[in-house]
Amino acid sequence: MSIGICKFCGSKTKLVKSHIIPKAMYWELNDSQNRPSKLLSPFDGEFEKRYPYGFYDYFLCDEHEKQFNDWDTYACTLLRDSQPKVMNNGWVFDEVDYTKIKLFFISMLWRAHIASNDFFEKIRLGPHENRLKNLITQENPSNPDDYAVVLWRSEEILANAIIAPYRERYEGISFIRFYLPKYMALIKVDQRPLSPLFQKNALKKSYKWFVTRKKYEGESEEKIMKNIANKNLIKKDRNYFENTKNCRS
Ligand SMILES: [Zn+2]
Repeated sequence: MSIGICKFCGSKTKLVKSHIIPKAMYWELNDSQNRPSKLLSPFDGEFEKRYPYGFYDYFLCDEHEKQFNDWDTYACTLLRDSQPKVMNNGWVFDEVDYTKIKLFFISMLWRAHIASNDFFEKIRLGPHENRLKNLITQENPSNPDDYAVVLWRSEEILANAIIAPYRERYEGISFIRFYLPKYMALIKVDQRPLSPLFQKNALKKSYKWFVTRKKYEGESEEKIMKNIANKNLIKKDRNYFENTKNCRS
């Protein structure tokens, strides 16, 4: 049992396990050897890891952990289990519940900021933390431009891996790039409006959400994955060499 301060209400109490990315999002996406999805960190000195029990940390009391249940379940149902309509260059999700899916992304962002897990180390949100927490408390999804969510989807095998999230800029505007199995999301963390470039894929209050097909092969994702694979080979070679040396000494 872990006793500590709940990062949501500030009370000293028993802390419970909180998943930052809901486990159901990546569960049963196992490879042929029945291992969990690969989770990849593109940062220097980091290597690929498989987290068999998912990403979790202890930073919330039971009451405040439960507040995410409904939004997490909805996100899994929509993004993982539903069958969006296939279009030429993407998919259309019908009957999207704007409030629930937006609050899912808002709360995932807040959780990634709070978590001490290395995987989320690039997510430092400064003054956004309090704004996000207020929206969560009020169950307020805010307007579509506030923490705007833009989504891409892929059915390539590479897209089952989860790359660590990071901050980036487009046309000077800050976003957090988040990977979920089969999806890449950009979440705007900037007061300036979303540029027309992203409007087409942005979550709106309408019931339809158009999600463009994303390529991983030949794109930056494939380069990140190859780079990590190479680092791992070098690391394995080095370990082999060190072990051989030890045996001889
Ligand atoms: Zn609490």
